[in-house]
Amino acid sequence: MKMRNYYQKEIETASREEILKIQNEKIVKQVKYVYDNVPYYRNLMDQNGVKPEDIRGVNDIQKLPFLTKDDLREAYPYGLLGTDLKNCVRIQSTSGTTGKRVVAFYTQKDIDMWEECCARAIVAAGGTNEDVVQVCYGYGLFTGGPGLNGGSHKVGSLTLPMSSGNTDRQIQFMMDLNATILCCTPSYAAFIGESLAEKGYKPEDNKLKAGIFGAEPWTEEMRRSIEKSLGIKAYDIYGLTETSGPGVSFECEEQTGMHINEDHFYAEIIDPKTGEVLPEGSKGELVFTSLDKEGFPLLRYRTKDICVLSRKPCSCGRTHVKMTKPMGRSDDMMIIRGVNVFPSQIEAVLLKEGYTPNYQIVVDRVNNTDTFDVYVEFSPEQFSDKIADVQAREKDLNGAMRSMLGIGPKIHLVAPKSITRSEGKAVRVIDKRKLHD
Ligand code: ADP
Ligand code: ZN
Repeated sequence: MKMRNYYQKEIETASREEILKIQNEKIVKQVKYVYDNVPYYRNLMDQNGVKPEDIRGVNDIQKLPFLTKDDLREAYPYGLLGTDLKNCVRIQSTSGTTGKRVVAFYTQKDIDMWEECCARAIVAAGGTNEDVVQVCYGYGLFTGGPGLNGGSHKVGSLTLPMSSGNTDRQIQFMMDLNATILCCTPSYAAFIGESLAEKGYKPEDNKLKAGIFGAEPWTEEMRRSIEKSLGIKAYDIYGLTETSGPGVSFECEEQTGMHINEDHFYAEIIDPKTGEVLPEGSKGELVFTSLDKEGFPLLRYRTKDICVLSRKPCSCGRTHVKMTKPMGRSDDMMIIRGVNVFPSQIEAVLLKEGYTPNYQIVVDRVNNTDTFDVYVEFSPEQFSDKIADVQAREKDLNGAMRSMLGIGPKIHLVAPKSITRSEGKAVRVIDKRKLHD
């Protein structure tokens, strides 16, 4: 049998009953902790007529009120703090993808838990103390760099704290220092792959074996394209600052969704419109309750990320529930001329049709009608300066999009390298309608 490696085998492969027992014990303690220490949430519970004693296990969790990003903004900066500032050792902040940044606080215990979650992810991607882990997520307030850096230390890997940007230096260090695991956003991984090829390197010239990519939505098509260009296996990792950072869930060798670290995070899927909890297998908004955080202990936090949970047994031996790749946030969804469109659907079509993952979507409203434009780069091989060729390709792509989305954007094929590359989270959508509102 193939050797299976886990960072914390006992908990990662615990039986359903054992996990439930841990969750039930932790939630009772955690709700009392939050009620006693976070006046903002105590008020919400009081308004909803819920007392800590009403929560006797995770089955009672539905009695608790939700928290949203608006609550976090209202309570900014200290309103949801769970302990004295003197007990906290770190502040991190969201990227501000969808508005004002919020900050989160960590005690040393919170940091250790978070880094252990990242260590589980690294080991699941095949990482050991013999690996060289190149972390090119941003360091600083963004959680990507610090999280994977800490996880890599815990595994005992040799850590290369590159942070993002300076792609030439990334490549030089990757090659000179024999990096074996690459951690960054998928859009940056694609860019590194592209840059390696430009410098004349073939996928087999680097020592990389795996990549751990997350912090933004990416499609299966994008995964295959990155795997090919870097000659690696590409693993997804998910997380958000509000719950700690990357490592809330991570992919194993099966690559069919991410195991949620259920001993620390309790997940629910709700109908984003009604707030009703949906049964396993339904698509909806992911809600997290952190079961043992001290600094920033959020209960029932609505992530706005849309996905599906599954308890199908996994061949890796891990027993924790899996979530599908989030297809985007509920507020990433664009409604264009009455049709729901996710950027990930557009990415899937582009890659299927042989284009690069370099694209930008521009939506506007002119004379009360939505306009919908997609700018797509030619790859150097596809490039043509014959107008007829370009128009034929644009028409084909419009047709392919129309059959996927039910609505056809105006396609603009543009020269290779004309769309700005991202070193962190890619900006895929410019919705100018929001500027008019
Ligand atoms: P912000 O919400 O400002 O971007 P964060 O840096 O905390 O702040 O990012 C967390 C968000 O990033 C998640 O809520 C989710 O929308 C997105 N995200 C993180 N990892 C993934 C992933 N693997 N796939 C899709 N989206 C992801
Ligand atoms: Zn698995």
